[in-house]
Amino acid sequence: MRNIKLDTKSIRYRCLKCGSVFTATVISQQSFLKCPKCNFTVLEKVRRDMGNRVLAR
Ligand SMILES: [Zn+2]
Repeated sequence: MRNIKLDTKSIRYRCLKCGSVFTATVISQQSFLKCPKCNFTVLEKVRRDMGNRVLAR
């Protein structure tokens, strides 16, 4: 069994106010947990086990 490493690039947070989704990497670059867009402080963690879709950016 391999160690499960915390991959911050695959964890996303969604702002409950403006609905924007950010990676944990972006969030962790801030001094505290908040939305980089609107500064709202309530974010929900977006689970990535909801299918295997690849986000097209
Ligand atoms: Zn926001």
